[in-house]
Amino acid sequence: MNSEKKQGLLLVYTGNGKGKTTAALGLCVRAVGYKWRICLVQFVKGSWKYGELKGLKALEPWVELHVVGEGFVGIIDDDKDIEVHQKAAREGLKMAVEKMRSGDYPLVILDELNVALSLKLVSREQVEALLEARTEDQNLVITGRDAPDWLIERADLVTEMKEIKHPFQAGIEAQKGIDW
Ligand code: ATP
Ligand code: MG
Repeated sequence: MNSEKKQGLLLVYTGNGKGKTTAALGLCVRAVGYKWRICLVQFVKGSWKYGELKGLKALEPWVELHVVGEGFVGIIDDDKDIEVHQKAAREGLKMAVEKMRSGDYPLVILDELNVALSLKLVSREQVEALLEARTEDQNLVITGRDAPDWLIERADLVTEMKEIKHPFQAGIEAQKGIDW
C-alpha cells in the first residue's frame, strides 16, 4: 500500500449518539496540519456553538465556515415557512458545489446535511448532483443522524455513532467545552 496515494473519500458520520460533528471537527484539525483549505458548511441549524466558532477562528485562514441554516426546523420558535428553510439549504448546496468545483478544498464538510435530507429541505437528486461535483482527490464529509441507505451505499466510510449513554439521560444539561 502506498500511503501517499491521493484518493478522495466520501465519509459519512451518522447515528443517534453524540460525536458526529465532533468527529468532523477532528478531521479539520488533522487537515490543518497539512495546510489544507477546508470548507465547512452547516445546514439546518442557524448557528454554531460558541466554542466551535471561537475554535475554528483559531484555525483561520485554513478553515472557512459557512452557516446556511435558517434555525431549527419545525420546532422551538420556528415560525418560518418550510420554503424559507428549503431555499437556505438549497443555496448552501449550490455554494458547496461551487467550492468543490474550484478544486481549492481538499476537505469539504457538510454538517447536518443528512438532517436537511430527511426534512426534505434538499432532495436526493440535488445531493447526488453535489456528489458528482467532487474532484478526484477531494474528501467530502457528510454528517447527521438518519443517513439514507443510498448515501451509505455510495460512501467509502460510514461510522454510526450509537448512543449507549448520554449525560442528558441523567438530567445533566449541555456542558461548556463538551457540547457548546
Ligand atoms: P456533537 O456536536 O457533540 O458531536 P452530534 O453532531 O453527534 O454531536 P447532533 O445531532 O448534531 O449530534 O446534536 C447536537 C447537540 O445535541 C450536541 O450538543 C450534543 O451534545 C447533543 N446530542 C447529541 N447526541 C445526543 C444524544 N444521544 N442525547 C442527547 N443529546 C445529544
Ligand atoms: Mg452535529
